[in-house]
Amino acid sequence: MASRIIFSADNFELLARSYPVGFPCLTCSEGCCTDYLIFVTHADVSRIHGAVPELRVLDYLDVSDVAVDDYPEVMLDGRPCRLVLKKEPASGRCVFLASGVNLCAIHAVSPYICRMYPFQVPYDDYQELELRQEVKCPERFLCPRDEIPQLIRTAKAFWERDLPRYAQLVETWHRLQPEGSLASFAEFLLSSSRGGVAAADD
Ligand code: SF4
Ligand code: SF4
Repeated sequence: MASRIIFSADNFELLARSYPVGFPCLTCSEGCCTDYLIFVTHADVSRIHGAVPELRVLDYLDVSDVAVDDYPEVMLDGRPCRLVLKKEPASGRCVFLASGVNLCAIHAVSPYICRMYPFQVPYDDYQELELRQEVKCPERFLCPRDEIPQLIRTAKAFWERDLPRYAQLVETWHRLQPEGSLASFAEFLLSSSRGGVAAADD
């Protein structure tokens, strides 16, 4: 198993000397936007919808049977699943991955998981930015030091605001429409979020 690397204000200079400065996604071919499932909450959906309202949410939302700890399970069309971003069936590419390049078409409003990758901030520990184990990123990946506080704020908003709120919405949904469809759930999330989801960078 890969070693656990932690970026924090105290040790960042040391780590930074080990990694050349540069943002490698432009030339990277590791396929993170193809290989991973991107789980989303109402906050992600609302942010994306606000940026690209011309797209139908069903053009980019899908469900997955894959279980993960943090994102709550929801009953849709009579089966338990989790909300994810849609992938192109043949290639597995996220529908927002611009064709021909490894660039995200919705970078400024991308889901929480994407915003944090390849880092994570564990629940209830808003001091450190960890590099995830077994990341695909080449070793030259570097999070600029001045972005660390912002990423930690983003993580705190996710754990303390967005995830609990999403869990509440899922509970409400189950009471209201236990047999509802993905389309109905997406509309429910958007209508519940209107005016209530803060900007991504809060
Ligand atoms: S939303 Fe953007 S960053 Fe996230 S998987 Fe899709 S293309 Fe990649
Ligand atoms: S996030 Fe990492 S794996 Fe994904 S494109 Fe960028 S450098 Fe490559």
